[in-house]
Amino acid sequence: MADTKRYNAQLDGAAFDTLAVRAGQQRTAEHEHGEAMFLTSSYVFGSAQEAAAIFAGDEPGNVYTRYTNPTVRNFEQRLAALEGAEQCVATSSGMAAIFSTILALLNPGDHIVSSRSIFGSTNVLFQKYVSKLGIEVDYVSLTDLDQWQSAVKDNTKMLFLESPSNPMNEVADIKALASLCKSSDMLLVVDNCLCSPALQQPLALGADVVIHSATKYIDGQGRCLGGAVLGKQALMEDVVGVLRSVGPTMSPFNAWVMLKGLETLNIRMKAHSENAMALALWLKEQPNVNAVCYAGLPEHPQHELAKVQQTRFGGVLSFEVKGGQAGAWSVIDSTRMLSITANLGDTKTTITHPATTTHGRVAQDDRLKAGITAGLIRVACGIEDIEDIKRDLAFGLSQL
Ligand SMILES: *Cc1c(COP(=O)(O)O)cnc(C)c1O
Repeated sequence: MADTKRYNAQLDGAAFDTLAVRAGQQRTAEHEHGEAMFLTSSYVFGSAQEAAAIFAGDEPGNVYTRYTNPTVRNFEQRLAALEGAEQCVATSSGMAAIFSTILALLNPGDHIVSSRSIFGSTNVLFQKYVSKLGIEVDYVSLTDLDQWQSAVKDNTKMLFLESPSNPMNEVADIKALASLCKSSDMLLVVDNCLCSPALQQPLALGADVVIHSATKYIDGQGRCLGGAVLGKQALMEDVVGVLRSVGPTMSPFNAWVMLKGLETLNIRMKAHSENAMALALWLKEQPNVNAVCYAGLPEHPQHELAKVQQTRFGGVLSFEVKGGQAGAWSVIDSTRMLSITANLGDTKTTITHPATTTHGRVAQDDRLKAGITAGLIRVACGIEDIEDIKRDLAFGLSQL
């Protein structure tokens, strides 16, 4: 008999790219090379006595997929390894991850300070549903430390942010906000969706909780919804409790797809970032482009911070064209390849007009304050050849 240990890879001290491909895999007695997909809602017991012991928690074992599933666990362990987290809890979507975190970690009467430029549905969640729990949210500028500090009240228990922001590419000083949290017993929650652990690891910068919409770069190929919450085991226990009782667990099929996504995460993020950098430099030279927002450009106000906080600048950028909304719409409509969709984090490049889509419901004043003008276009670079992406935008830009 071969040493059975050899059926599973030993990964002590392994680097990111190795963990992305191998972490979390526990091969079954079939010795499969690829990850097994356990499409099962429940599990059987060898006897009534074993069932009783596992239900009581006296013996380890699976009971029901809303509680545990080996494929979901494989995904959780792999993502935890990549984010440097003690524990990962997979959820059915990014929104489920955010809501489960708040339900698990906050109480009625608590207060959240959030950056103003957050994902649209997160904003709706805060205003319409989190408020029902008796939890209030105040908004501040992502980049203004003084604003964060003065928004903190006696009952503030959580700071919530996305960095870089979408679509303006503003960058928060995560280390500085983490030390503000430590001094006042607050949790720092970072939605790391736009970077993924390949570009930024907020826990290492002092954040308490990392949130993901795995729907974006982690799947990376536009196939499945998923999400994740990561942090210290003591915090994640409460999130697991919410998942068990509320039910927004990740499906084993989606977990299997996301596992495959993680394997190519780093090489995709490199390709997304290189394309976005090249596109930003090219757009800057176009006479009908007024401004380009990309943290990779040296003139970006948080370029130096982004350089130390992230390993690359990511795939999302925005730019303002001449001619306001009519100009922006004509550039978007003249593309022949780019997908007109508000989604991002896909191998296929997407293009959208924030002012009338993702930020259409934001009051015009607030929108303009955030820099989202009528002429602003957002592009989430895919991994196609950069010359084809440029060519698709060049025609529309030349017609303005
Ligand atoms: C898409 C997105 C979410 C929500 O994730 P879903 O998987 O769509 O529920 C949350 N935060 C950010 C930054 C996102 O882009």
